[in-house]
Amino acid sequence: MGLVRRGVRLTLQFSQAFQSAVRKHSSIKEAVRRKVDQIATNPVALGEPLKGRLRGYLSSPVRGNFLIIYLFCETCRKKGDDVVVLCADCAVCNNDTLKFIALGPHDEAYASVPAD
Ligand SMILES: [Zn+2]
Repeated sequence: MGLVRRGVRLTLQFSQAFQSAVRKHSSIKEAVRRKVDQIATNPVALGEPLKGRLRGYLSSPVRGNFLIIYLFCETCRKKGDDVVVLCADCAVCNNDTLKFIALGPHDEAYASVPAD
């Protein structure tokens, strides 16, 4: 698949919600930074695909019940299924765009993902 150890850096974007969550939960800031680096290295392997309303999003645990919810446009566009999931501005993003959407304890992170 060529997704491991990509030579090309991904384009990282951080939502306002993600940035304020990092400030709010500053005690896990370092753990978040490490996880963001790991996800940026291998976004597909580190993400668990979400279902239902959040289909198309990926989540990855940080510490305890804290998790990061993100989008990776390469997979946004490549669902082989019946439903193709595109993020809001997929049309203007490159395939290598990685969008960090939400961060927090499980329920808080899920609740802060914007509705379509
Ligand atoms: Zn997308």
